[in-house]
Amino acid sequence: MSKPVTDLIHHPYVPPAGFHAPQPGVFKASTVIFANVAAMRARDWKHKNGYTYGLHGTPTTFLLEERIAALEGGTQCILVPSGLAAIANVGMALLKAGDEVLLPDNVYGPSRALADGEFAAWGITHQLYDPLKPQDLEARIGPKTRLVWVEAPGSVTMEFPDLAALVRICRARGVTCALDNTWGAGLAFRGFDLVPGEGLGVDISVQALTKYPSGGGDVLMGSIVTRDEKLHQRIKLTHMRVGWGVGGNDAEAVLRSLPSVALRYRAHDAAARQLAQWLATRPEVAQVLHPALPGSPGHAHWQALCGEQGLAAGLFSIVFDPRFATQQVDAFCDALALFKLGYSWGGPLSLVVPYDIPAMRSAQLATWPHKGVLVRFSVGLEDAQDLQADIAQALEALQRPG
Ligand SMILES: *Cc1c(COP(=O)(O)O)cnc(C)c1O
Repeated sequence: MSKPVTDLIHHPYVPPAGFHAPQPGVFKASTVIFANVAAMRARDWKHKNGYTYGLHGTPTTFLLEERIAALEGGTQCILVPSGLAAIANVGMALLKAGDEVLLPDNVYGPSRALADGEFAAWGITHQLYDPLKPQDLEARIGPKTRLVWVEAPGSVTMEFPDLAALVRICRARGVTCALDNTWGAGLAFRGFDLVPGEGLGVDISVQALTKYPSGGGDVLMGSIVTRDEKLHQRIKLTHMRVGWGVGGNDAEAVLRSLPSVALRYRAHDAAARQLAQWLATRPEVAQVLHPALPGSPGHAHWQALCGEQGLAAGLFSIVFDPRFATQQVDAFCDALALFKLGYSWGGPLSLVVPYDIPAMRSAQLATWPHKGVLVRFSVGLEDAQDLQADIAQALEALQRPG
């Protein structure tokens, strides 16, 4: 006779199978139980035909992986605990001492920090290239180049590159090309299918699911999508060896938000465009950086890839007129009431961050022509008129003596 405490853990009741509801169940596990030793020995963690250990996947994480792969038009997906972990996982899988990775000059900042830090310490070098000059990328690809990162648009400064031209160069030179597709989210353009009918696409598409797919500002997660099984297995082996798993509750939160991602993306986009267009008329603003705005760097490339009526997310930056000093722009940011100061984007709350762009760029490439201070806006899901009124009142703070 076992004691009640044992019965609590070894209870014989099994609920009936076949439960079906709009949302999938949440499975959480470190341990996965096998029927016998033979089953334990036979199970292969590399393919999604069985379960071995929580780190290698549960029904909940497999489901999210399949949906993200479908969203991006890929065939395999690996989940990791953050967007940055996705970037790191790709580099760790594909690069070894003596190799080189190329990054766009407007790359997501922590990706460059990883190249400067761990990758450099491991004997992996990197070069920055000018993303608006495909010939600059071409000239920098050498015999040690194993990986090229592309981003559309670039982080913070929003320049939109000619992705197809960059990918063509990587193809011609036989170098793996990985896209940070966080901005596009699988909605604005097809990373694996850049030119319809041509079969031209990136090899790897990474996203910070932290942003639009999660949509709540409350989950950190990343995804690595591929179309090539061998490439997927290479990245998956590294994923297994470094031990990057995601929790069932976080996967469930993304699964819950995913059905509305396209609706939310359109709403963020519409409000951001309205504000960006209005800001372009303001005398305090030297330039609005938003790929859908004519005059923004790479606008024609955005139009060619995303379409005349294409989507463009909820992000833009403004460069203030150089007559405004950093302290005045800081006062503008502090005066905002609805826009909060905070990193990341993709949630319902509007956010701003002031950036010191020259400090983030390669001096040699000279890709930053502006003198004024930049502020990046992430437009949430508040009423756009209210957001505009908030910016208008904060612009008054610029005029006040500091
Ligand atoms: C936010 C972001 C990441 C990193 O995502 P985290 O989940 O915050 O680590 C990577 N790339 C881009 C372009 C991002 O905006």
